[in-house]
Amino acid sequence: MVVDNDVNVMALGEIYQGAGKSIDNLIFVKIGTGIGAGIVCEGEIYRGSSGCAGDIGHISVDKNGPMCHCGNKGCLEAVAAGPAIAERSVQVARAGKSPILLSYYEKNGNTLTPEDVGNASREGDAQAIEVIRESGQFIGEVLAGLVNFYNPGMIVIGGGVSNLGNLLLSSIRQAVLCRSLPLATRDLLIVFSEIGPDAGVIGAINLAIDNMLSLAASQVEAAGA
Ligand SMILES: [Zn+2]
Repeated sequence: MVVDNDVNVMALGEIYQGAGKSIDNLIFVKIGTGIGAGIVCEGEIYRGSSGCAGDIGHISVDKNGPMCHCGNKGCLEAVAAGPAIAERSVQVARAGKSPILLSYYEKNGNTLTPEDVGNASREGDAQAIEVIRESGQFIGEVLAGLVNFYNPGMIVIGGGVSNLGNLLLSSIRQAVLCRSLPLATRDLLIVFSEIGPDAGVIGAINLAIDNMLSLAASQVEAAGA
């Protein structure tokens, strides 16, 4: 049984059958209740020395920001992942700044989900749009650092919060283009996952096949030795 971190498996799905099919160097970013990245380097997953490469959700973006479950303050996922989007929108609704968010809030029994915020933004609610734009900006600023450091050919955005749509993607793009070096972004593509939730399944199947093939190859090698 081959076990891998789900974001790595999703990144593999993207290079096998998704947006990244012809891309050798790619970063897959999963935005959901947390934020993590799968790194594809020269066509293969890069896991790092201890297997935790790509844990971008705990990069600090605001030292005075909210407490993260890791114990630090202002980590990317504490300010920009799904729960943070919902929490900021609850504050806006409670402050009476957005009748649309308030109506979702009351309808849901005094709570909001990122989907509600997405719906409110599509209804043209300026506050919901601002909350999503802010999250995209934070994520984009971290990705800009990764682009300067790693020079990927593509960034693929997936995970539940990617359902927030083009507003999120355009905010991410804008921040990356604004803060990365022009040479690094000249040919860079920033796209949503084409295969969505299936990326993990496709990646897992391909990972298992690759492992079977390499096991078979090593057995042939051993038999021939
Ligand atoms: Zn953290």
